[in-house]
Amino acid sequence: MNAPMPRPSILDIKPYKGGDGTLPGFENTIRLASNEGALGPSPKVIEVLNNSNLELHRYPDGGATMLREGIGKHFDHDPERIVCGAGSEQLISAICRAYAGPGDEVLISEHAFVWYSIVAKAVGATPVKVPEPNLYADVDALLSCVTGKTKILFLANPNNPTGTAIGACELKRLHAGLRDDILLVVDSAYAEFIEWTEYSTGADLVDAARNVIMTRTFSKLYALSALRIGWAYGTPEMIDTINRVRSPFNVNSAAQVAGLTALEDKEHNEKTRAHTTRWRTCLTHVMRELGYEVPDSLGNFILVRFPVEPGKTAQDADQYLRDKGIITRAQGSVGLPDCLRISIGTEPEMRAIMDAMKAFVG
Ligand SMILES: *Cc1c(COP(=O)(O)O)cnc(C)c1O
Repeated sequence: MNAPMPRPSILDIKPYKGGDGTLPGFENTIRLASNEGALGPSPKVIEVLNNSNLELHRYPDGGATMLREGIGKHFDHDPERIVCGAGSEQLISAICRAYAGPGDEVLISEHAFVWYSIVAKAVGATPVKVPEPNLYADVDALLSCVTGKTKILFLANPNNPTGTAIGACELKRLHAGLRDDILLVVDSAYAEFIEWTEYSTGADLVDAARNVIMTRTFSKLYALSALRIGWAYGTPEMIDTINRVRSPFNVNSAAQVAGLTALEDKEHNEKTRAHTTRWRTCLTHVMRELGYEVPDSLGNFILVRFPVEPGKTAQDADQYLRDKGIITRAQGSVGLPDCLRISIGTEPEMRAIMDAMKAFVG
């Protein structure tokens, strides 16, 4: 019997698996698997959601006008060149759908954020993975893999799960080496955490060129993962294009109010940033002291590489931590089966995982 069949590239997709939230036998698991903001959202967001009349029978503002204006003001961008989405993940899909299709190539670094290869396959394009020495995106290697079929280059900067970033000069060099008809997508999901003076979110390139778009999210520093809010900053042509393919009411009313409020709570945002830097530095130090390789991370997480020695592997550590109620994230899906990614959590959570890891090493 015949049955409807999806396009072959769809069956090639390994479904995205989010970090686990619960463990059997534990009432309060320590969730360090999804890079959610350690301190939770701004109390002002909770307050505004509790007190807003969201008029749930009304459709949301499909253009997310107030939110775009708030983002524009906060980051000094023209709101007309911003589009919001239900998470930046949705905008990344829309970009791929609009600019790539069957037969095209989408360039990504070897251990890039896993979503890029999923969206490339979903539109029938071929994700081309470029070797990544030392867990850093390599500009020359990326440029050497450009072919006549290349349509998009996705760069997470810093990347998830490696945490590593390239500086503004390297980013500029990457852009300068690309043909004008190749879209450079700079995914700056962790930008709000970064104080590195060499860092660029990519917004300056968006302003200077016609083939760059930057994506951002409220899921990380602003800790609003549940509400799904992301945004992109691009040329008017790109924003017009994405507006044609995105869902018309993609950002719900609660999300629009929450996002706008989150931007305004400078104190909470600064507290989250300082907390994250402090505990990322501490956790990195402790893990290196225990003998693990940990790349310098600029995000709210670190990547830890484990040996292949039986009893000491990433899988062994993962299980050991789970038995203690701690969930981290395995990285087989991005070609790093010997690594775990650990998100920065609260102080008690950080103390718990450092103690557990010391005991694991023995
Ligand atoms: C978390 C993450 C995103 C997706 O965030 P949304 O919740 O969809 O806004 C995008 N890119 C990178 C690199 C991420 O780590």
